[in-house]
Amino acid sequence: MKRIAVLGSTGSIGRATLAVVEAFPEHFDVVALGAGSNLECLRAQIRRHCPACVSVANSDDARDLATEFRDSKFYWGADGLETIASHTGAEMIVVAVVGAMGLLPTLAAIRAGKDIALANKETLVVAGDLVMDAVRAAGVHLLPVDSEHCAIHQALRGHASNSSLHLTLTASGGPFWTWSREAMDAATVDEALKHPTWRMGAKISIDSATMMNKGFEIIEAHHLFGVPEQQIDVVIHPQSLIHALVKLIDGSIVAHMSTTDMRLPISYALAWPDRLTAPAPPLDVTRLPALTFEAPDLERFPALELARAALLAGGEMPAVLNAANEVAVASFLEGRCSYPSVAATVATTLDRWAPRNRPLVSIEQALAADNAARRLAAEHLMKYDDPVSGSEIRC
Ligand code: NDP
Ligand code: MG
Repeated sequence: MKRIAVLGSTGSIGRATLAVVEAFPEHFDVVALGAGSNLECLRAQIRRHCPACVSVANSDDARDLATEFRDSKFYWGADGLETIASHTGAEMIVVAVVGAMGLLPTLAAIRAGKDIALANKETLVVAGDLVMDAVRAAGVHLLPVDSEHCAIHQALRGHASNSSLHLTLTASGGPFWTWSREAMDAATVDEALKHPTWRMGAKISIDSATMMNKGFEIIEAHHLFGVPEQQIDVVIHPQSLIHALVKLIDGSIVAHMSTTDMRLPISYALAWPDRLTAPAPPLDVTRLPALTFEAPDLERFPALELARAALLAGGEMPAVLNAANEVAVASFLEGRCSYPSVAATVATTLDRWAPRNRPLVSIEQALAADNAARRLAAEHLMKYDDPVSGSEIRC
């Protein structure tokens, strides 16, 4: 029986994780849950799993829940997430909160000797080298939940560490892959949220529409597998059935295929090094559509190159990339700026940061860069304030 904690339990990955746990009650015991403010969903999860510890975003909610559920201990805020990541009896922490807020609880869990099932790719974007150093120092296992990285993890199993040459991440292309530049410029939030193959939280759905998500995944793959940026490719594969390809030094290419269902990579990470029976119907290869592959269009999707440039520049630049993107995506989701201004804001923030970029030596430095970059990005977004109408913010 593996004891697990789920941070972000009320989100898309968190709920899928609990679905896997519920399908295999003889394998997993949920000892802690961390959520934000979706109390209705959280209450149902507490009733079902009776976790010893729960953390929520704010203190009032924690107090209310504590009077309702006497058998659980309640915490709140960023400290609450760190506490349940590190000071509970959990052996594995599933990190499925969204954004840079995943960094500190992940580090706390690693330092406390917990294995990590990492969905929150922003953690590796912001401070990948430092996080991987901490993983090695603590001797824990970090299992990727992101489907492409889970696919690479599986494709590399059984091969010597020096036998892979090239990693290829597949991308569906998102909702705008077939759209013209002009149509994309006028894209609405609802259109950007309509991912063709995956059902996900709002932030990652927008990241998929801009393809920043795939840029983040290049950075994530670099840190997880120790492969240089030049040896990580992206191909558009609209069917999302092959999740990644690994080219080995002898020219063999190992591909990983599965149903488009996050319960698969989640169950792989939870059960590793064992395997569970399929939590979703397996693929019937005789009924598959034709599988197609195309090069990405870097002009319509500039975010991909921004992420590569940030990774190559190193230091604080990936943290700045992530921070600017979080601010711009939130602004777009609130209807305060246009779709193309998301990538434009990230580009401007990176340009402004470049002259003062420094090697990243501490988490405190990463958090300071994150903070300052958020202010720069917000400042850039303000520039689009329409001086004519005075009230409408346009980008
Ligand atoms: P969601 O938006 O669906 O879920 C986010 C979770 O974070 C929710 O449980 C939310 O709680 C919680 N949260 C938000 N704010 C706080 C806070 N202040 N304190 C504590 N918890 C908070 O996101 P996804 O599940 O889609 O994605 C989660 C992560 O996994 C992201 O980093 C994403 O990039 C990555 N990922 C997701 C995939 C997917 O298929 N969805 C695939 C691969 C990676 P609440 O709702 O209660 O406010
Ligand atoms: Mg992915």
